[in-house]
Amino acid sequence: MNFEKTVSPQASVQAWADPALSNLPAVESLERAKVNILLVDDRQDKLLALEAVLSGLNENLVKAHSGKEALRYLLHQDFAVILLDVSMPEMDGFQTAALIRKRVHSEHTPIIFITSIQDTQSHISKGYSLGAVDYMLTPIVPAVLQTKVSVFVDLYRKTEQVKAQAERLRQIEEAQHRRQLAEATDRLEAETKRNRFFNLSIDLLAIADFDGYFRQLNPTWEKTLGYTTEELKAIPFQQLVHPDDQAAMTDQCQRLQQDSPTTYFENRCRCKDGSFRWLGWTAAPFVAERLVYIFARDITARKQAEEEIRHLNKELKQRVVELTDVNKELESFTYSISHDLRAPLRSMQSFAGALLEECSEQISAEGKDFARRIFNSARYMDTLLQDLLNYSRLAQSELDLLPINLDAALTEVLAQLDKEVQDKQAQVEIQRPLSSLLAHLPTLKQILTNLLCNAVKFMEPGRTPRIQIWTDRGTNMVRLWVEDNGIGIANEHQERIFGLFQRLHTYQTYPGTGVGLAIVRKGVERMGGRVGVESRPGEGSRFWIELPTAIRTEHAQHDSSR
Ligand code: ADP
Repeated sequence: MNFEKTVSPQASVQAWADPALSNLPAVESLERAKVNILLVDDRQDKLLALEAVLSGLNENLVKAHSGKEALRYLLHQDFAVILLDVSMPEMDGFQTAALIRKRVHSEHTPIIFITSIQDTQSHISKGYSLGAVDYMLTPIVPAVLQTKVSVFVDLYRKTEQVKAQAERLRQIEEAQHRRQLAEATDRLEAETKRNRFFNLSIDLLAIADFDGYFRQLNPTWEKTLGYTTEELKAIPFQQLVHPDDQAAMTDQCQRLQQDSPTTYFENRCRCKDGSFRWLGWTAAPFVAERLVYIFARDITARKQAEEEIRHLNKELKQRVVELTDVNKELESFTYSISHDLRAPLRSMQSFAGALLEECSEQISAEGKDFARRIFNSARYMDTLLQDLLNYSRLAQSELDLLPINLDAALTEVLAQLDKEVQDKQAQVEIQRPLSSLLAHLPTLKQILTNLLCNAVKFMEPGRTPRIQIWTDRGTNMVRLWVEDNGIGIANEHQERIFGLFQRLHTYQTYPGTGVGLAIVRKGVERMGGRVGVESRPGEGSRFWIELPTAIRTEHAQHDSSR
């Protein structure tokens, strides 16, 4: 049996059922495929004869030696035509044909009965009643048999082609249908999602036309402005805009209609209750559709906060101006008071001194004590006023900064403090070289004097003061350190000691006015620097001041006599 490539309708349908239509066999290929022809005869010689005659057709010839075998083949294969011998033992051709016709699959398969001439009449009529399409008489004329069979082969092939075409069309239609359905489903899904976004958005979304009307709005508009969607659609949206923002809005609308890119603008919109809310609009035009897609956000709270901040800033500036004025007044007041108070103080001091020196014999011991107290208090008050005067002067005067040779400045200050240094047998060590810096020389000298006085003064009784001085050079600043081995300062006091009149000890323990470090801070800050201290009680203190470095005039020598 020849199992060369044959085509059956099922095979074609299976191939075409594949959704990838490109995989379907081309209809033309069916033309080239061999078809099956079933030859049924109990005699081998007759089968061979039939085979010999039909082999020229170059189709697939299947030989069955009995009706039963033929039926078996029919269970698994389709045939273009069946050549069926009528006279066969057991099951003759008619019985076989009857069973063939009973099977749905083969009920229309053409059957050509082969019968002998003597049986012709009765057989022909019986054959036709069983659905035979033709009959052939033996002995067979090869050319006739070939012609008849090839007609059925052609017919079969054509039928298969038509079936294949139909199946292909069906598949194409089905695929198209499936695609359309999928597209529609996708569209619906996307639309549902979009609508969900549109409706759930807490921002204001809308589509407006070029005539100035809203076409579609999400529910947030109702919530924000108080109008119903229908009311909003009924009026040109320009009417909602605050009169002061109308011109800008008209300008924006015109630009959008000229297809300008997406723009952002802010304006106030009237609510149904007459109040106004600020909206920040982002709008994109679609000129072809004459539509504008709008995304807006209620920015009223932000605008109010901005307004509040603007207002507060204005107030703050005003307060700063006022405070600066008050400060200036206070400083000049302090200055004049300190200045004017010194004259009567000096008379008190000198008269108390005169009492003690010139009239000591006329007054009692108690009187002398009173006079001494007056003298000391007046002297203390004079020092205090002098410090205050220095402080106020510092706050008021213009400080021109010049490159300073720190070494020379320090030497001069130490020379002035020589008595204090000698009295306490203090050791002062300067770690050279010292970086030069930008400063106002008199102020710097005052600062150095105060720091060095304190370093000598705040010492445990009986201890030798050891003072170290050095500089650290930063990128733009020079830090000058003054370190002592004195009583130190607790952490919690390290900030407040730079304030006016801040003292940590009684006058009796460590005399002073509490103005020295305030002068240090004020002076350093007025020269654009900073001041600070590192200290622990009992372990000494390190005060530092930071001033701008004299970058370009590193080697400038200052004139210490200035
Ligand atoms: P005064 O020296 O007149 O008391 P200052 O303003 O110079 O005032 O100093 C304020 C306070 O800071 C001082 O009373 C002292 O308690 C503390 N202080 C300043 N310098 C030192 C120092 N080098 N060591 C310890 N304490 C200091």
